[in-house]
Amino acid sequence: MTTSPCASDALPGGTVDTPVQEVVNNEDGTLGGLRLTDGQVVARRVIAVATWMEARIEGLGGLKLPVEDLPDNMGRRFASGMAGTTEVPGVWVAGNATDLAAQVGASAAAGALAGAHINSMLATADTNAALAATQGETPAL
Ligand SMILES: Cc1cc2nc3c(=O)[nH]c(=O)nc-3n(C[C@H](O)[C@H](O)[C@H](O)COP(=O)(O)OP(=O)(O)OC[C@H]3O[C@@H](n4cnc5c(N)ncnc54)[C@H](O)[C@@H]3O)c2cc1C
Repeated sequence: MTTSPCASDALPGGTVDTPVQEVVNNEDGTLGGLRLTDGQVVARRVIAVATWMEARIEGLGGLKLPVEDLPDNMGRRFASGMAGTTEVPGVWVAGNATDLAAQVGASAAAGALAGAHINSMLATADTNAALAATQGETPAL
C-alpha cells in the first residue's frame, strides 16, 4: 500500500490527497481503514484500488513504436490504427499491448485481424513484384 497515491473519499468531505502508508485492521481482523503517511487513520469498511495498466515495452524500444496515455490515468498503450497497424512500417500490435482492457476473445480477434491484414499486405506486395517483373520482361508498346 505504500505505493498508493492517496486515500480517495467519495463521501461528503471530499478527497484526501495524503499518500497511504498501510491498511489498518480492527481487533477482530476485519478491515478498519487506512493509515496515511501523516499518521491520520481514515476508517473504511471497503477499499477500492485502481490499477495503472501499461503495455510492456522492454526490449521493444528499438522499434520506436508510439505510445499514448489513456484518459483518466488508466494506463499507457501502444498507439494503433485499423487492424493493429502502427506508424512503424511492418509492425502491427494486437491484444493488451494496444487494448489494455481487452479480454481473451477480443485480443484473439484483434490478433487474427492483424494477421489477415499482414497477409493481405504480403499478397499485394508479391502481386506487385510479379507484375513489375512481368512488365520488365515485356517490351513497352
Ligand atoms: C488477473 C487477470 C485475470 C483475467 N481473467 C480473464 C478472464 O477470466 N477471461 C478473459 O477472457 N480474460 C481474462 N484476462 C485477460 C486476458 O489475460 C487477456 O485478455 C489476454 O491475456 C490478452 O492476450 P495478449 O496475447 O494480448 O497478451 P498476453 O496474454 O499478456 O501475452 C503477451 C505475451 O507476450 C510476452 N511478452 C511481453 N513482452 C515481451 C517481449 N518484449 N518479448 C517477448 N515476449 C514478450 C508476455 O510474457 C506474454 O506471454 C485476465 C487478465 C488478468 C491480468
